[in-house]
Amino acid sequence: MFPRKGASGEEVLEELERKTEEDLTFDSGRILGSMCTYPHPLAVEVVRRYIDRNLGDPGLHVGSQRVEKEAVDMLSNLLGLERGYGHIVSGGTEANILAVRAFRNLADVEKPELILPESAHFSFLKASEMLGVKLVWAKLKEDYSVDVRDVESKITDRTIGIVGIAGTTGLGVVDDIPSLSDLAIEHGLPLHVDAAFGGFVIPFAKELGYDIPDFDFRLKGVKSITIDPHKMGMVPIPAGGIIFREKKYLEAISILAPYLAGGRIWQATITGTRPGASALAVWAMIKHLGFEGYKEVVREAMELSRWFAGELKKIPGVYLIREPVLNIVSFGSERLEELEERLKNRGWGISAHRGYVRIVMMPHVKREHLEEFLRDLGEIAAG
Ligand code: PLP
Repeated sequence: MFPRKGASGEEVLEELERKTEEDLTFDSGRILGSMCTYPHPLAVEVVRRYIDRNLGDPGLHVGSQRVEKEAVDMLSNLLGLERGYGHIVSGGTEANILAVRAFRNLADVEKPELILPESAHFSFLKASEMLGVKLVWAKLKEDYSVDVRDVESKITDRTIGIVGIAGTTGLGVVDDIPSLSDLAIEHGLPLHVDAAFGGFVIPFAKELGYDIPDFDFRLKGVKSITIDPHKMGMVPIPAGGIIFREKKYLEAISILAPYLAGGRIWQATITGTRPGASALAVWAMIKHLGFEGYKEVVREAMELSRWFAGELKKIPGVYLIREPVLNIVSFGSERLEELEERLKNRGWGISAHRGYVRIVMMPHVKREHLEEFLRDLGEIAAG
């Protein structure tokens, strides 16, 4: 019921505290199945200070708009482009929708089709429904990466683009993006790489010596990339990123906003009013941690996943789905549903995904949490 009379701030906060008591929090270390994390304190401070900035009306907040552009430039740079075009958006879903929208608008074909791996995130289902683009699913190989030959066999004159994934949602697998890029060039099609998760992992992991396929704009067929700062970038929700290689993709999805207080602008994002604070927080985190800082975050996460995968193999009744590629480790069991329920009953925030449980080594996940989890899993699997 909408209250007629207001309560004091203190009362409201107390009530909220009670109402959210059952929420799992990232800093408790109990959330093992999420791609989000406890945001970095600097990013929290930036959001607090600049909470009123609206990038939907950038003429009012020209400084913030400039900072967003710099954040986009730094992300483009991380992904192998000197100059990219894009936005800090609400998340990977919006970024993927924008990429499909750009491909569709530029292709201008009747009954448009998009080819994507069976492992693709469900955000593409939303894009398909909203944009009237038919999804054509490509099979996976035994290693759970997309079968590039199957992708090729599905290209028709209605195809508007191809999607590859750099860090699948369930297993953290990186598709053979170099081959997808060659294929895209050969057929004159744009390739979108969904690196919502992997974007803030792969560049650092590669420098640490992990053997991971190339995935970014250094491959000429890649025309757009999703990269989410609110995942491994440690920026508060909402903060996604969409980067295009060329301006024409952004222009193809821009709508004129005529009435804004800051003047007429062309707007490409799905959201109108949108948080400037998020873009500023992305900028601040990149400036603060730099490549070396993120590399250390990724080093710890990758080492923990290798160790965890080794420990899982020692538990009878549980098996690894595949050796981890990034910092995601997934396991299966004959009694998966029962295991999942009993682990959840013990207060673990895990997610079961297409027949397996996925553990994501986010920065808030520490070895002691995993040791405790392994003890619980061992007990439940034995019983
Ligand atoms: N793409 C991939 C590969 C993802 O794993 C996710 C989310 O987990 C998304 C896109 C969607 O991101 P968001 O939930 O931020 O919209």
